[in-house]
Amino acid sequence: MNPYESINLSKVINAAGKMTYLGSSSISPQAAEVMFEAGKSYVDMAALKRNVNDRIAELTGAEGGCITSCAAAGIAISVAACLTGNDLDKVEALPVIKSPHHEVIIQKGHSVNFGANVTQMIRMTGAVVKEIGTVNGVKPYHLEGEINDKTAAIVYVISHHAVSDEMLTLSEVTEIAAKHQVPVIVDAAAEVDLHSYYQQGASLVIYSGHKAIGGPTSGMIIGDKNLIEACQLQEKGYARAMKIGKESIMGFYIALREYVNTDWDEVEGNYVSIVEGLQAGIGELSGLMTKIVWDATRPIPRLQLKLAVDCSLNAKQLIRLMEDNNPSIRTRNHSADQGIILFDPRELKDEEIPTIAQLLRSIII
Ligand SMILES: *Cc1c(COP(=O)(O)O)cnc(C)c1O
Repeated sequence: MNPYESINLSKVINAAGKMTYLGSSSISPQAAEVMFEAGKSYVDMAALKRNVNDRIAELTGAEGGCITSCAAAGIAISVAACLTGNDLDKVEALPVIKSPHHEVIIQKGHSVNFGANVTQMIRMTGAVVKEIGTVNGVKPYHLEGEINDKTAAIVYVISHHAVSDEMLTLSEVTEIAAKHQVPVIVDAAAEVDLHSYYQQGASLVIYSGHKAIGGPTSGMIIGDKNLIEACQLQEKGYARAMKIGKESIMGFYIALREYVNTDWDEVEGNYVSIVEGLQAGIGELSGLMTKIVWDATRPIPRLQLKLAVDCSLNAKQLIRLMEDNNPSIRTRNHSADQGIILFDPRELKDEEIPTIAQLLRSIII
């Protein structure tokens, strides 16, 4: 039984992907079971966090780990750590910064909105954001020119939201930062790679627990021992407003363990079988072309639906009809203006394919 239906909300068939606005990921049965048991039991919370933080470090190969309530909290906590270090007096004083370092540098093309502005997650600590370069160009001299005695950190965003061309690469940034002993914080919230950004010299790397990792709403910071300790200390101040509960900590840990043990070839095969099944189910419809396309950077196939200009309705009308259906069918609609709708297999279940195919066949005539 879908509990959302019991409070009169439509069931959602998610062909959009891991979207925050649809509740991100569906939790695995094993993680869900552990969360249920963890929620019913008591535990020494400090010991639980220490234990899971150590396991995060072990599974990612970083010196340390810090569980958070989400990646956005992870950004604020990482910046706070760079402002306070391990000084509890400074931790308690935030957002008043009792340190001469209070500026955080970010490239203009990284100053994105992921649902909220990344710069606000930095500013909420009291830090001042210094954007460098332009949205279509940042050069090493822009960074060199902005680093000074007041610099607390550099935030680097890895995301499909960010401008990727003409920005400084992570290794260019970490090299310049190391020369000036400035920490580099990487926001890799939705990324699949848990190793390479830290290996490229980032001091702290932030991940969302409910995106690629597929856990409950949660997040983690991995990184250098000293700064990670400063992140953990923030729970005595700032991060108390971003608390994560015992059941989510355990659910996150199970999801992380499953994630690092995943056989990606098998997952990719399942994705292909879902999009092929959907393509076959839809079959031939006049005015509609289907083909399988791959994500630009990740191994994700998607079924692309292209509506011909002479189709009985346009992409936006079709999207609306699918959304208004019960169950509500949600798709990736970034290219709707070009008559293109994408079906993402990651959160789509085999048994949901006939519902989508039948609806399309009944709408498009
Ligand atoms: C999703 C996202 C976030 C926020 O992640 P949450 O875990 O939902 O808080 C931050 N940065 C980027 C680049 C994102 O894509």
